[in-house]
Amino acid sequence: MRYDVLIIGAGASGLYCACRILSESGVRLGIIDSNDSVGKKLLMTGAGRCNLTNYDMDPRYYMTDSPEMLAGLLRRHDENAALAFFRDELGVLTAERDDGLCYPATFRADTVVNAMRNYLIDNDADFILNTQVCSISRDDGGFTVNGSLHSKTIVIAVGGASYSLTGSNGSIIKLAAPFTGRGDLAPLYPALVPLKTLEKDITSISGARAYCDLKLYEDRRSDKVLAESSGEILFTKYGVSGICVLDVSGYAVRAMAEGKRPVLSVNLLKMSFPKARIEVETNLLNFPDRSPSQALNGLVRDDILAIILDRINLTEVRHASDLSRTDIDNITECMTSFKLTITGSLSFDNAQVTNGGIMLSSVNDQMELKSTRGLFICGEALNCNGICGGYNLQFCWSSASAAARGVLSCLN
Ligand SMILES: Cc1cc2nc3c(=O)[nH]c(=O)nc-3n(C[C@H](O)[C@H](O)[C@H](O)COP(=O)(O)OP(=O)(O)OC[C@H]3O[C@@H](n4cnc5c(N)ncnc54)[C@H](O)[C@@H]3O)c2cc1C
Repeated sequence: MRYDVLIIGAGASGLYCACRILSESGVRLGIIDSNDSVGKKLLMTGAGRCNLTNYDMDPRYYMTDSPEMLAGLLRRHDENAALAFFRDELGVLTAERDDGLCYPATFRADTVVNAMRNYLIDNDADFILNTQVCSISRDDGGFTVNGSLHSKTIVIAVGGASYSLTGSNGSIIKLAAPFTGRGDLAPLYPALVPLKTLEKDITSISGARAYCDLKLYEDRRSDKVLAESSGEILFTKYGVSGICVLDVSGYAVRAMAEGKRPVLSVNLLKMSFPKARIEVETNLLNFPDRSPSQALNGLVRDDILAIILDRINLTEVRHASDLSRTDIDNITECMTSFKLTITGSLSFDNAQVTNGGIMLSSVNDQMELKSTRGLFICGEALNCNGICGGYNLQFCWSSASAAARGVLSCLN
């Protein structure tokens, strides 16, 4: 059997690319996956509810080598286009939360997987499951996959290296190797991943959560901010997690790979130093006979407060009125910039996405590898990863749609 297009990977991007192609043309399409079923990772997304996209879409929410190219991709097939395709072609109604996050109206990821699988069945796609692709080579009429499957065009949609039990095991590196040169591939690192910290005093508050503003600095002495976010931080036995930590984690992992020792500055009061100092001083003045921790525990939860007072050697102070101006400065500084030195991250198997992959600058705006006519790449296998909130799936929809256009124009 000779295919017009073989898609390697039946995850979010491979399935969507296949649906987009077959919605335009009845080409001979095969979709290959090493798993015995399709969309295994997609079923896990959004805690089983599938956060499909986000109405606040912008390239600044992504790490990539080419924000300009990303902007074009997100513009040409944006969140409205993706949601319209889900509704009009795939029959999936969607629901928007107050914060702009979009889900299928059923709030079930299997709705999304079933809709794409059934659409492909209806449109005569061949599912080639339980098949690990180990090689892609050029042949006269296009490409040969695993030495026996032939196709005029190929779409590589194998994902990155995160959650390898779902099938994405970093195979992009091997599969693309015959077609790529130096500079086409960024090394793979975990992203959206919990971080380990040097400071062990926080292990005593494992499980505690707090709302905060976060800044990630390049290192302790630098004032270069690598990334910022806001939200709930979760303290753990090894360090920190929570969505705001995951959102900056890719930058921390990258910095560590470059030999830096990045530092998180946690603003537990979510306000500037001068404003925070007024709040701290007011409480201390209002409750002069209380211990500092009793006077201040309306500002910061008392288990974190105990660590703060310990870090600045004030645990022995009996009364709020005994604190000096410098003590008040130090308390405020620690509450608005609680420092955590990052020493590592959890592994790929705890990372929601992968940073790295085929450079966006190495493909054209139809996702075709610039060096190889007929070979397309989409989804997480590309060097583009977003923060939490539907950004990674939107990149799948946008890049898969561009690849579908490329395949169809290549076949014409
Ligand atoms: C727990 C979790 C929750 C998430 N929640 C969200 C969310 O709510 N919203 C959001 O936007 N993003 C979310 N993400 C990220 C999102 O799931 C991914 O970015 C997205 O699934 C990537 O899709 P993909 O098609 O590029 O790769 P994948 O979904 O990883 O699919 C790749 C497929 O290729 C197959 N494959 C790989 N190598 C080979 C090979 N050599 N031969 C044959 N088959 C191969 C794999 O088996 C797999 O099925 C989440 C991720 C995780 C882990």
